[in-house]
Amino acid sequence: MTDTDIPLEAIAAKVGTPFFLYNAAILRERMADLAQLTRAEGVQARYAMKANSNAAILKEALAAGLWIDAVSGNEVLRAKRAGFAMGAEPPVVMLTCDVFRDNGLAVVVQEGVMPNVGSPGQIRELAEAGYRGPIAMRVNPGFGHGHVQACDTGGPSSKHGIWHEDLDGPIAMARDAGLRIEGLHAHVGTGPQIREFDENMRKLADVFGALLPRFPHAVAVNFGGGIPHPYRPNAERFELEPYRAFLSHAQGMLSKLAKRSVRVEIEPGRYPVAGMASLVARVKEVKATRSNDKGPGHAFIMVDAGFNDLIRPAMYGSYHHISVVGAGAGREPEPFAVAGPLCESGDVFTRDDQEVIQPRMLPRPEPGDLLVLHDAGAYGAVMSSNYVSLGRAPQVLWDDGRATLVSRRETVEDVVRAECDEAL
Ligand SMILES: *Cc1c(COP(=O)(O)O)cnc(C)c1O
Repeated sequence: MTDTDIPLEAIAAKVGTPFFLYNAAILRERMADLAQLTRAEGVQARYAMKANSNAAILKEALAAGLWIDAVSGNEVLRAKRAGFAMGAEPPVVMLTCDVFRDNGLAVVVQEGVMPNVGSPGQIRELAEAGYRGPIAMRVNPGFGHGHVQACDTGGPSSKHGIWHEDLDGPIAMARDAGLRIEGLHAHVGTGPQIREFDENMRKLADVFGALLPRFPHAVAVNFGGGIPHPYRPNAERFELEPYRAFLSHAQGMLSKLAKRSVRVEIEPGRYPVAGMASLVARVKEVKATRSNDKGPGHAFIMVDAGFNDLIRPAMYGSYHHISVVGAGAGREPEPFAVAGPLCESGDVFTRDDQEVIQPRMLPRPEPGDLLVLHDAGAYGAVMSSNYVSLGRAPQVLWDDGRATLVSRRETVEDVVRAECDEAL
């Protein structure tokens, strides 16, 4: 995003640091990409709202004509508040979860949104709860790959869905319970290699083709999300046009096989939102350790954002591009580790997936400069926490020259709001 056009200091003066900054122009562009990608008859994109569930984002998804993949009862209710239609005709909101908890089951029954079941137990629970609407079935096709090892979305070590060779029992259970299986679903994720995604999608089309004859009521197949986002500055941008052609081809091929019109769905989360946002932090200090027999020394840029705000580097070793705004910005780059305020050695934004510090070439900032962590729109604010009671950072939407606070900074009152002293 073009941070240079946005008055970061003026926004910081109003909301403090750190804060998430969302660029509405980029958001709309990416949402429109998805609408374009699925413009063919019988192809539909859902936005996997767990990537960023702020109402301002959901409204853009709604305006772009996207549907929703929700993964909890509360996400369904937030989609409803943002204006998405409930019910299953058509199934604008689908609930995909490995386990029903809290209000998940009740929301399906009350709102009539289509559940996407990933285990026989969920079919039993739905039947017992009195649900009689359509369902989708999530299949583990036996292969897949997340963007890192820790994200295993398909294959023998994935917990998601029903193993593709074990579908007979669940199909019979659904039939006996009077639940029509109207959708088939698999989400195999983004591999580290951009080509792996294409390959997985082609393999998935074959799997769906082979499975469809056993699902006489299926009117939709869902290829999941996982469209890659280029996090590194020199990374290849994923080409949507061949994917669009693939989806349209798959729609025709699967419809022909099934001898009825089969809707092809996708549900990207990261793609439309990752690039529209930055996490803007304040540089507090620049300090160094020295090499000794235990290892090399590092120069540390200490900022006021931590893994409580953006956990992806600490959890997955994910790369976020970093830039310095302020007095130090033009200096010759030197290797720096960027670290946050938490009493945790893992509170470092420049780590690899082996948890090893990977110094980044950055200009030496002055304390007081801003440090921008880019591409923080997906799995950023939504994965932030109240760890160490800091309160979650505010979210600011920059739209057409105007900044709007779309989630305020949490206070100590927010942090303790659920605490109580109640006899049970
Ligand atoms: C997380 C998730 C997605 C979105 O994945 P991205 O990599 O963000 O595109 C889609 N479908 C399901 C079921 C998911 O759990």
